[in-house]
Amino acid sequence: MFLIDCGEGTQVQLRKNKLRFSKINHIFISHLHGDHFYGLVGLISTFMLLNRQTDLHVYGPKGIKEIILLQLRYSNSYTGYNLYFHELDSNESETVYEDEKVLVKTIPLKHRIYTNGYLFQEKAKERKLNIEAVENYNIDLAYYRKIKYGGNIELEDGTIIPNSELTFDPEPAKSYAFCSDTMYDESILPIIKNCDVLYHETTFLESEADKAEKTMHTTAKQAAVIAAKANVKQLILGHYSTRYANIELFKEEALAVFPNVLLADDGKIFDFE
Ligand SMILES: [Zn+2]
Repeated sequence: MFLIDCGEGTQVQLRKNKLRFSKINHIFISHLHGDHFYGLVGLISTFMLLNRQTDLHVYGPKGIKEIILLQLRYSNSYTGYNLYFHELDSNESETVYEDEKVLVKTIPLKHRIYTNGYLFQEKAKERKLNIEAVENYNIDLAYYRKIKYGGNIELEDGTIIPNSELTFDPEPAKSYAFCSDTMYDESILPIIKNCDVLYHETTFLESEADKAEKTMHTTAKQAAVIAAKANVKQLILGHYSTRYANIELFKEEALAVFPNVLLADDGKIFDFE
């Protein structure tokens, strides 16, 4: 489980939604404005109280390590687990995490302070065995792995069976881009192009476009333009200014530009299986 940003309400929401704290091993922080990381030292402390043993990795802007360690030092606190900081200061997209299933890359954003979004990209999956075909040809189990990775098979009589006869296409690899906070910025388009789900901040409506520009945030319309230009499948909006009583207005404004819009809200779960 990946946690992206950690505002002061994060622990409350994790408990409310019955998410297991122990499953969080990687935390990605976009930038050092309070509403995006003031919950981090609290969460790290809670992990200590829960007697966590597993390593914890924190990815975020340069300075985050100093801030957290200073707080721990002055409260005379020590973690019983290994706490690793991966500090970022590049303005180019870079891979910050990789395992056998997924890659995480930064999405450099334009905000009042140094900020990154994060792209979570599933790796291409193995091809699916066509068991019936494989058994018909009497292919030995030892070759299954080769077939799943796209290999052809040569039978004893020299006949080549092409992989397309032995497998089905795998489930397409999915991708999720998280972009908050940022002003309208087309330079992110090549990084998020064709991704399945884009979360994009929309702090303001177009009627407050001047405020969006001044505070380096985005309007709902601008987020929708980014989604359309990047050809993503689904846009999720969030990070609404509290000045708006009705968040449906964000959806309405974005829908005029892009057809697939969902509104993020506390505790809401999106399932794209
Ligand atoms: Zn901010």
